[in-house]
Amino acid sequence: MLTYEKLLRRISERDFASAGKSVWGRELYYYRVGRGEKKLFINGTHHGNEYITAEIALDFYDYIKNRTGNWSIYVLPMVNPDGTAICQGLLPKSTDTYEHIRRLNGWKDLYRVWRKNANGVDLNHNYDASFKSEGVSGGAYPESEPESRAVVNLVKKENFDMVICLHAQGEEIYHGFRGVYPDGSRVIAEAMAKASGYKVSEPTGSASFGGMKDWFTHKFSRPGFTIEVGRGENPLPEEQLPGIEKRLFPAIEKAMLTYDEVLC
Ligand SMILES: [Zn+2]
Repeated sequence: MLTYEKLLRRISERDFASAGKSVWGRELYYYRVGRGEKKLFINGTHHGNEYITAEIALDFYDYIKNRTGNWSIYVLPMVNPDGTAICQGLLPKSTDTYEHIRRLNGWKDLYRVWRKNANGVDLNHNYDASFKSEGVSGGAYPESEPESRAVVNLVKKENFDMVICLHAQGEEIYHGFRGVYPDGSRVIAEAMAKASGYKVSEPTGSASFGGMKDWFTHKFSRPGFTIEVGRGENPLPEEQLPGIEKRLFPAIEKAMLTYDEVLC
């Protein structure tokens, strides 16, 4: 199980920086690999119970480090470290914080189910793309949360050419926003689908607005993707890691190569 503390140990061996802090003050670390002029941004674990995506994002380094081509790849493995800690049962019990979070969750059990951040906001509904709060815990207003604000600031600062958001689960690839598809988006999605065996899908209902991919696609009209890795019930078991990575990593590499072919 990849905890925030383990993530800190692994990231320290790389070229890394912090994009900001979580509600409870955890640094949102990202690493950079490659020195090419095109910039890809990969992020994981917007949702606490999808922490397997943080491990995948960390492992990607070894796969890609010698084959970055004309790309620089920025990887932020854990957008929601507080939510991850809550989901992993690492909150000290019988504290005010623990009771506060339990209240936010209607006194239901938190272990293995918590997805939101420490303010009870679903971070992947907190972006400025047809933002709506009711029914989806999207927060008070777009980017009201320090985690989504940090992601937005990093995107604006680095001006990424392409974004991939890792979620779990379903073996699906989403792209575009509300029926609008940036140039190259469809070809790249299909190339990734072919390489991974995942399916290109249309988001429906609450999955179709307020997310990071939605905001990036809408704001910049550049290819942005949500990839739902693995299959089963979150949190996905560690045993799925090798199988997921074997299908996902070549697909991400293929996205970069396809971008080079169709958009450069
Ligand atoms: Zn998710």
